[in-house]
Amino acid sequence: MAASDLDPIAAIATAPGRGGIGVVRISGQDLRALARTLLGRAPTPRHAHFLPFNDAQGAAIDEGIALFFDAPRSYTGEDVLELQGHGGPAVLRRLLARCLEAGREQGLRLAEPGEFTRRAFLNERLDLAQAEAVADLIEASSEAAARGAIASLSGKFSGEINALAERIIQLRLLVEATLDFPEEEIDFLEKYQARGTLAGITATLDTLLAQTRQGAILREGLHVVLAGRPNVGKSSLLNALAGEDVAIVTDIAGTTRDKVVQQIHLDGVPLHIVDTAGLRETADTVERLGISRSWAEIEKADVILHLRDAREPDVALDAEIAARRHPRTPVLAVLNKADLLAEWPQDLPQDTLAVSARNGQGLDALRTTLLGLAGWTPGGESPWLARARHVRALELAREHLTVAEQHAAQDDRVLDLFAEELRLAHEALGEITGQFSSDDMLGRIFSSFCIGK
Ligand code: GDP
Ligand code: ZN
Repeated sequence: MAASDLDPIAAIATAPGRGGIGVVRISGQDLRALARTLLGRAPTPRHAHFLPFNDAQGAAIDEGIALFFDAPRSYTGEDVLELQGHGGPAVLRRLLARCLEAGREQGLRLAEPGEFTRRAFLNERLDLAQAEAVADLIEASSEAAARGAIASLSGKFSGEINALAERIIQLRLLVEATLDFPEEEIDFLEKYQARGTLAGITATLDTLLAQTRQGAILREGLHVVLAGRPNVGKSSLLNALAGEDVAIVTDIAGTTRDKVVQQIHLDGVPLHIVDTAGLRETADTVERLGISRSWAEIEKADVILHLRDAREPDVALDAEIAARRHPRTPVLAVLNKADLLAEWPQDLPQDTLAVSARNGQGLDALRTTLLGLAGWTPGGESPWLARARHVRALELAREHLTVAEQHAAQDDRVLDLFAEELRLAHEALGEITGQFSSDDMLGRIFSSFCIGK
């Protein structure tokens, strides 16, 4: 443990601004002496004490409730002292300053973002996926995301990962025991039905992976890029999907010079929709900058909506979009302004839809198709919220299991290689819960938290 993980820390735990209640939270290995100084009495653990919070001269800063949780039965696993006073910025700043002054000798310092939760993880009060869920619950932008985050926090996701890891461990134990008796290697796979066991593990992992992908979409949202020539109605479509005016709509080609991002929710999924500058050759430098950014957006998109005018659906940009996008990024061709046609288009090719941004026709079909292309099962709310890093770890574990299967299928059955792939799959799963984690990864995860959490 780094020295800084041993310092006592303090922070205002409630959101900045005014509120009914404001909380200053302190965590440290032994806070009894500090609590006595601050409260003028020894606190009883897990009791609510109504008290004045005094400054060093004994004048009241505020009055409120003090709660003391003794280690290890606290959020961080250390001693925790919570002072709940009135929720005003000035009074809370004074209260925090008073705490820092009273704890100066013990080395009390301001907490860094996420540091309370980092300690909860280091002291094994939470695993890493649960610790991430704390931040995700706070950040949740939809009710579906909040439901998923609390499921992760309560350990539902980690429980599934641990159960799967346990099955891999059991199989590893058998293999490694056999490795010590080379004469038995030959019939190991038959004797323990290793291939069947591995197939069962792989099937469970595939289910978990699908659910986790849904959970990651729910958390991270989807990047949808509106691409197309000037004047085909990109900004109008963005407005129609968003239900409010966010982009400038005009008749002059080249109005949208910069990208406009709008976040909307479909089926609980956050969509970050980017309206790009119309893609065309231009001499205007400002507009050209916008266009090069548009291509950059296309390269990172989860789904591309390629808008055309239904009256003259040109194919000029098709090849270029196809060349720039990631090969796995789906493109949906959207024929806009279909209201201007004599008849609504029928029998369109696959991945082509007709809409009218003006009167809203076809937009429901567009929403459903869009989510489907991005891999979202309609109404298929994930049982937990997940992050891209969890999906990557599961994919890595899946790759190792695939290689293990290949070893098991070979004639010369290389048991030690089989065992090694199982070990690597297990390690990948352990990254999710933090069983195997680097300091660098922990730093990145906790620094994105808010202060006081
Ligand atoms: P952008 O350059 O692709 O962003 O196009 P805009 O959204 O600025 O629209 C260009 C023009 O087409 C505006 O005059 C819009 O009112 C019009 N327009 C956009 N969508 C539709 C539609 O579905 N039907 C009709 N009739 N006009 C539309
Ligand atoms: Zn526009």
